[in-house]
Amino acid sequence: MHGLMQDRPLTIPTLLSRAETNFGHKRIVTGGTTETVATWREVAPRVRKLARVLESLRVPAGACVGTFAWNSQRHVELYLGIPSSGRILHTVNHRLYREQITFIVNDAADDVLFVDRTILPVIWPLVASFDTVRHVIVMDDGGDMPLPDDPRVLDYEALLAGQADGPFETPIEDENLAASLCYTSGTTGNPKGVLYSHRSVVLHSLLLLGADVFALSERDVVAPVVPMFHVNAWGLPYAAMQSGSDLVLPGPVRDPEELVSLLSRHRVTFSAGVATVWRDLVPALRRHDLSSLRHIACGGGAVDDALSSAYEEAIGIPLTNAWGMTETSPVVTTSRLATHHDGLDSDARRLLLGTPGPAVPLTEIRVVAGGVEQPWDGQSQGELQAAGATIAGAYFGADSGADAFTADGWLRTGDVATIDEWGYLRIVDRSKDLVKSGGEWISSVALENAVMSDPRVREAAVIGVVDARWGERPLACVVPFEGVDLTADDVRDHLRGRVASWWIPERIEMMTEIPKTATGKWSKQTLRQRFADPAPDAD
Ligand code: AMP
Repeated sequence: MHGLMQDRPLTIPTLLSRAETNFGHKRIVTGGTTETVATWREVAPRVRKLARVLESLRVPAGACVGTFAWNSQRHVELYLGIPSSGRILHTVNHRLYREQITFIVNDAADDVLFVDRTILPVIWPLVASFDTVRHVIVMDDGGDMPLPDDPRVLDYEALLAGQADGPFETPIEDENLAASLCYTSGTTGNPKGVLYSHRSVVLHSLLLLGADVFALSERDVVAPVVPMFHVNAWGLPYAAMQSGSDLVLPGPVRDPEELVSLLSRHRVTFSAGVATVWRDLVPALRRHDLSSLRHIACGGGAVDDALSSAYEEAIGIPLTNAWGMTETSPVVTTSRLATHHDGLDSDARRLLLGTPGPAVPLTEIRVVAGGVEQPWDGQSQGELQAAGATIAGAYFGADSGADAFTADGWLRTGDVATIDEWGYLRIVDRSKDLVKSGGEWISSVALENAVMSDPRVREAAVIGVVDARWGERPLACVVPFEGVDLTADDVRDHLRGRVASWWIPERIEMMTEIPKTATGKWSKQTLRQRFADPAPDAD
């Protein structure tokens, strides 16, 4: 027998309706040269007009709509208007290298793109390589690139101004419909698409509110510093609509002083980002009043204790770690102090908050070694696997990544971990060879290929080395052909224009041979052991 409760779908339009009805006065602030403030009461009609714009442009139901945008009010409008009108929001990182962007846009078959004017100089030169894009809709955020004289280029505000407010034309009745898409770089092959559903987005936004998760409430002022192209800004814009928190978005602001000033002026209580960003802000912390901050979430990688201590000393709170992946919406664990931690001194508490912590509601984790689930003893290592309604069950697009899922439907994360008796996760290592620099992935394979595209190079292997500023940086080991005189600068010159500039390694080691494993692959383990220490002249 079924229960007799109302069968109401969990959909993104219900988030908008909640924000507008219950929190119409709450604010969305966007930083930048001209800071803007709007309320949900003002934003909601714009979201509905946006849905009508998509109708008028005849964007098919279920089509992907790409966004290349900073964290801004307009990006929030896209987060809501695209899925609420039955299309799929496809956020793309404009800092990927050209071939990756082209692959991703074509793999998703994006029908139209929304691009911030400050990002247009990166995207417009690529448009000829996009197979399916019919329109580029420019959002004027103060960039100075003249709009290309091309019938495909349209202006966001002009399009909205041409529409009247009115209900969404086709209500989303099936909560399992796709809502948004985000690509992640895998260990092998091309980036893989993770396709979130309305249901998974709503459930994830709810679980973030939990008292033992981020405890977001109406009293909070939430500042997602994590880019909105990275896993829906960790679900925070949607969560703020559930809780009624104000949203403070940095826009194109990157300068640490300005960012801290923004957090201070708007009395931000909760912020989230990767360690590289938090590290950049340290010198500015003491120059501003940050007494409103109650929680700083640091995800996407490990928290280093020196950094967390710097925060504790400067503003009285340490960083709180969270673990997740693009495939997991992303939050699966976040640290918290439970009753059994009551006896810990403040250093031990800070260290504990710097670990990933236990699984949040609706998710499960396990570690598996040799096909056997390992005990929760804090010692036994294995591959971390995750399951839950907010976790991908398959990939979207050309690369199905079928081996990333177990026979019983769990996601194989590729991370090596332990879980202690209280369910607290610790990440031991990544089994992947990707390099995570400043929270963004660098594919070691793609970088190796770019180095090896130089006819003077015989072999190249790339590993990640610890870097105080970026978390990790790529180090390239390069073997020139015999008799060839090749310098590190020659390698960098060759890479310029072939990969994103931030991929180009500061450290390049010229070698006579790359050490190999028994099966003839590069032995990156040997390289890591050899180059574990930072070079004296590394940045
Ligand atoms: P992404 O899909 O870009 O969000 O990257 C996910 C990967 O980042 C995970 O598989 C981990 O390797 C790494 N990661 C995320 N959170 C943490 C954490 N708290 N500690 C260590 N590694 C992490």
